[in-house]
Formats: sequence, structure tokens, C-alpha cells
Amino acid sequence: MFDVDCECGKCGAKITQLPFQPSGDRPVYCGDCNRAHREQRNSDRGERRMFDVDVACSGCGTKITQLPFEPRDTSNLLCKECYLKNKDA
Ligand SMILES: [Zn+2]
Ligand SMILES: [Zn+2]
Repeated sequence: MFDVDCECGKCGAKITQLPFQPSGDRPVYCGDCNRAHREQRNSDRGERRMFDVDVACSGCGTKITQLPFEPRDTSNLLCKECYLKNKDA
């Protein structure tokens, strides 16, 4: 580990150690941001990204915990079944 004295380029957390020598011309990130970045990259590559939500279906009241998109308005969301039913109707 290298002793450094810099700030995370994302959240501003103080970084005192890095597993590599910082080059200076690239931002460095703290462990948390690095992990988040890696996970984001993994999910981009794999399955469609799902967003964790905690809302009730406005049709049947079923709890919805994941959506394939980031909901802008959570007051009028439908679960998968209601969504499919709506589409057929
Ligand atoms: Zn950070
Ligand atoms: Zn529903």
C-alpha cells in the first residue's frame, strides 16, 4: 500500500492509503466508490439493470421491490401482472 494524502474524486472522502501509486493526472476513489463503480460496470455488462424500489402496485397493491427502470413518479406504478393485463386490455 502507498501512503497518500488525497481526496476521493467522487465523494470527497479522505484517502490515506492506496494499493497503487497515484499518477496525479487521474482522480482516485475511495474504497466505497471503487466498489460501487465496479458493481455498476458489472451490471451494465450483464442482465438489464434493475432498480431497487419499495412501492405498492397502484392496481392490486402488490409490493414492488424491483423495476427495470428508475421510476420518476412512484405514485402510479403497476406490478408486472397488472402491467401485462393493462397492455392486453
Ligand atoms: Zn468516495
Ligand atoms: Zn398489480
